[in-house]
Amino acid sequence: MSADCIFCRIITGDVPSDLVYTDEEMVAFRDINPVASTHILVVPREHIESVPHLQPGHEGLVGRMVMRARALAEDEDLASRGYRLVVNSGPEGGQMVPHLHLHLIGGRRLKDQMG
Ligand code: 5GP
Ligand code: ZN
Repeated sequence: MSADCIFCRIITGDVPSDLVYTDEEMVAFRDINPVASTHILVVPREHIESVPHLQPGHEGLVGRMVMRARALAEDEDLASRGYRLVVNSGPEGGQMVPHLHLHLIGGRRLKDQMG
């Protein structure tokens, strides 16, 4: 928990969000500035800054975040249509919020955005 982190404050309930999933190790909520009709952020409760800050032992968590995004995509009827999972990491990766998160984006044909 980092008091000055917006996602930590969402996790504690201090800041409201449109939660779509919660368990003991992660939450998922709708992005405040969606880029498609489905734009959900899957966020570990633990304040891990970004991919380089992952430690041995986080493999299971990261795997379960991906599997949760897959389940949420099914809930959103995106399984056959397709969707994108994105992790931005660090300044040049376009990460704005320094608390690890997985974007689930879908509901329209996405452009090729490999940088
Ligand atoms: P990043 O660029 O760090 O990968 O993405 C951060 C995402 O968090 C952005 O898509 C942004 O719209 C979203 N975001 C930032 N602040 C808030 C907030 O207070 N609530 C919600 N629901 N999303 C937020
Ligand atoms: Zn945090």
